Amino acid sequence: MKKNLLTKVLSLSLVFLLCLCLTACGESNDSTSENSSNTESVQTNESGSKTGSVESTPNSIPDTPVVEETPEPTYYYAAIEGAVIVEQNGSQYYVYCHKCEKCGKVQSNMKHVRHSGGNLTLSYYCPDCKQSQRVEIEESVNW
Ligand SMILES: [Zn+2]
Repeated sequence: MKKNLLTKVLSLSLVFLLCLCLTACGESNDSTSENSSNTESVQTNESGSKTGSVESTPNSIPDTPVVEETPEPTYYYAAIEGAVIVEQNGSQYYVYCHKCEKCGKVQSNMKHVRHSGGNLTLSYYCPDCKQSQRVEIEESVNW
């Protein structure tokens, strides 16, 4: 009775071990083969796509527009009130004199000024008629 039991247990355990070995081996073999094939194909695919993308990036650099010679703007000044434009040559510098709108007196001292980016507005005091005077000079730029 005891021998029979022992042999039964041994045989069962052997079968069990065999099954374990087979399943383990089968699984390991399958997994390794699958993994190797997959990784190889994936790697080749990735490398191919990467090289392709790298090659395409230099072509996608935006074309910077070549700026040709910038035209020189011409400046024009017009006295609206309280001033007389004495000198202007299209540059951003000009000369003007104060002119009283009340008594018509043109002051002799000339003002050398530079284009201010907008209309020049200021006030001056006329020494002849003792009146404060508004000065406005229109500055325009022609590109
Ligand atoms: Zn005046």
